[in-house]
Amino acid sequence: MPAIITLSGNITYDFVPHAAEQDGLDYTATVARPGRGLLVELLDANNQVLTSTISSQTGAYSLNATRDKLVRVRVKAQLLSESDNSAQWDFKVTDNTSNNSVYAMAGSLLAANEATAVRDLNASSGWSGAAYTQPRVAAPFAIIDAIFTGVERLLAVDDALQFPSLELRWSEDNNTADGDLALGEIATSFYSSDLNAIYILGSENDDTDEYDRHVILHEWGHYIEAKLSRSDSIGGSHQSDDKLDFRVAMSEGFSNAFSAMLLDDPVYRDTSGVQQSDDFRIAVNRIDNTVRGWYSEASVQSIFYNFYVSDTNKTARDIADVFTVIRRDNYINSDAFVSIYLFAEQLRAADPTVTPTINSLLIGQNIAITDRFGADESNSGGAAAHLPIYKTLPLNNTAVNVCSTNNQGAYNKLGVSQFLLLNVVSAGNYRITAAESGTVSSDSDPNMYLYFRGEILQEATSAMVGSETLTHSLLPGAYVLELVDDRAVRDDFNGNAYACFDVRAFQLN
Ligand SMILES: [Zn+2]
Repeated sequence: MPAIITLSGNITYDFVPHAAEQDGLDYTATVARPGRGLLVELLDANNQVLTSTISSQTGAYSLNATRDKLVRVRVKAQLLSESDNSAQWDFKVTDNTSNNSVYAMAGSLLAANEATAVRDLNASSGWSGAAYTQPRVAAPFAIIDAIFTGVERLLAVDDALQFPSLELRWSEDNNTADGDLALGEIATSFYSSDLNAIYILGSENDDTDEYDRHVILHEWGHYIEAKLSRSDSIGGSHQSDDKLDFRVAMSEGFSNAFSAMLLDDPVYRDTSGVQQSDDFRIAVNRIDNTVRGWYSEASVQSIFYNFYVSDTNKTARDIADVFTVIRRDNYINSDAFVSIYLFAEQLRAADPTVTPTINSLLIGQNIAITDRFGADESNSGGAAAHLPIYKTLPLNNTAVNVCSTNNQGAYNKLGVSQFLLLNVVSAGNYRITAAESGTVSSDSDPNMYLYFRGEILQEATSAMVGSETLTHSLLPGAYVLELVDDRAVRDDFNGNAYACFDVRAFQLN
């Protein structure tokens, strides 16, 4: 008898699809899907790892065991590249309510022999008809399998991609309360660059997102932007018909479209509610959006998705047309913020033949065909003060007047942040001042942030009423100054904030 027994089997998980004809999840249509690309380990009786492998595209694995040894197979909710692979990745689903431990499922401890050589593992949903009454083993495997789809699509573009490692933190306790992440009070599914993690809702009868692949891949889109491209988003709450800070509109519109592109499904769906029977949908390919413009996430996602499906020369839709543009050096190192203008500019530069396509999509969303600064934009979004998007700030102490307001909402809505462009020719120390103009309010609080290629170099955020000063030494180059009235930033400010400021800059020495 051979001394080695080859154990093999298939990894599957229960996938609960969206209902075709109604809102919510359809548990009656639950289907076993292959657990692809997963880390599969062979454990001894003391749970020590003896050997490991990665499951195939069909969820198949095989591992060698010593005959008659007591062993069990464990599969983790973790996608791991082979160490000799040119592309590298490590994505895992962890439990933020349990010290971020990795989710796994394990088979029985059995002696390795011919009779036990086939060992299949299925992660079950835990649904029993009206509620989750059993452990929700499938949830982390559903999450990681959505990520597998994304990885696979991007590897087809670049087979040497280096994905920075990322945790996807899910728990059945992750709920819509806003509080302690370790208690599951995550408020919403979100990506955090600082925490290097995506948090995903899982609270039954409240909001679960483990089967909402658009939601998972939307958040993964934020990770892709942040780690493999560039995002200048300031985050915050947002909706399709908001007039947003254009950096936020870009990031959210991109991520909505990105999930739809990866899934080849333009209907973004997010289920929630009692028995997961409610549904929120966005048609990301919609053209006649209520709010159209450079400040609209609906416009941005419509442009991305419709550009993606516009390519009739190829047999398959190709994410490369989008992904290679956001990976360009001139995109990542842009002096202007990342916006739909920058994307369009870099797309035209990468492939001039698509210029008519992107230009017509821009026009369809009331967005000008112009440079990465949006210099020729004429759609103000309702207030002339919003244009030009970047006001040139001369470096000779000449005042430029800008106005900050919360009249479209606080923090990340259009009109809160004002942008000025500084073209520095001679290196030196520069001082920038802001002073309220016109009828002076008694409580305006201007704050300023100086950026180079999207990175904050210096901030001036004193609580001084009506004025602010920022000093920084600058090398030749293009810099962006953001000015806000802190009253317009704050969610807790009662009433209308509207204040205008004279901004001046000059070289000190
Ligand atoms: Zn988002």
